[in-house]
Amino acid sequence: MFQPLGPLCLCRTLCTPLLTHVHAPRCCPTQLIVPGFVDCHIHYPQIDIVGSYGEQLLEWLQNYVFPAEAKFKDGDYADKVAKVFVNELLKSGTTTALTFCTVHPQSVDALFTAAQERNMLMIAGKVLMDDEKFAPDSLREDCHQSYEESKALIAKWHGNGRCLYAVTPRFAVSSTPEELALAGQLYAEHEGVYMQTHLNENMAEIALAKQIHNCETYLGIYDKHGLTGICTHTHKHT
Ligand SMILES: [Zn+2]
Repeated sequence: MFQPLGPLCLCRTLCTPLLTHVHAPRCCPTQLIVPGFVDCHIHYPQIDIVGSYGEQLLEWLQNYVFPAEAKFKDGDYADKVAKVFVNELLKSGTTTALTFCTVHPQSVDALFTAAQERNMLMIAGKVLMDDEKFAPDSLREDCHQSYEESKALIAKWHGNGRCLYAVTPRFAVSSTPEELALAGQLYAEHEGVYMQTHLNENMAEIALAKQIHNCETYLGIYDKHGLTGICTHTHKHT
């Protein structure tokens, strides 16, 4: 179990007297002092389906993930899950996370509010999905509506305390080219926001993404819509 010591200045006050006045180092063989961990990719709405039967990606999304995410239409439910999620992160020592929400703006409000109450650094965003062949009715939105909702969420949360916004197209299979273009526009219009998505998760997904977007490489799909940056690294054939 992790026990928070508090911010660095408090830690220094606790440790400095030990360092200057104690001759022998204190031996704590079962304890470690570490900085908070950073989780670079996590989906808080999926906490309820952790450990579900492992189908292949596209079937797993349809059968488990999308029904779980549809429940976040209810803001009270989102609030409840967000609190459980951030408490679970803290229990394992994670104090910073880059997190997917759902398509519902209330899922973003719920997460940022819960993180802010605990002074965590949270980077997160509303998921974008508008492809009618892949995204179910319960989670599909008009891409212009998603653009406007994302813009309002950026204005509300980006740089609000320790909250930072990430433009969040789920992946190339669930967004039309028009939506990816609008995501690129959001990313370009708001300096300092992050971008998160998925890339090359399995063979069926890679083939489908390249076919839908008529692109030779998966990364090329995001690249042509301005969604890659100077820190994107991948194999040349992907
Ligand atoms: Zn993911």
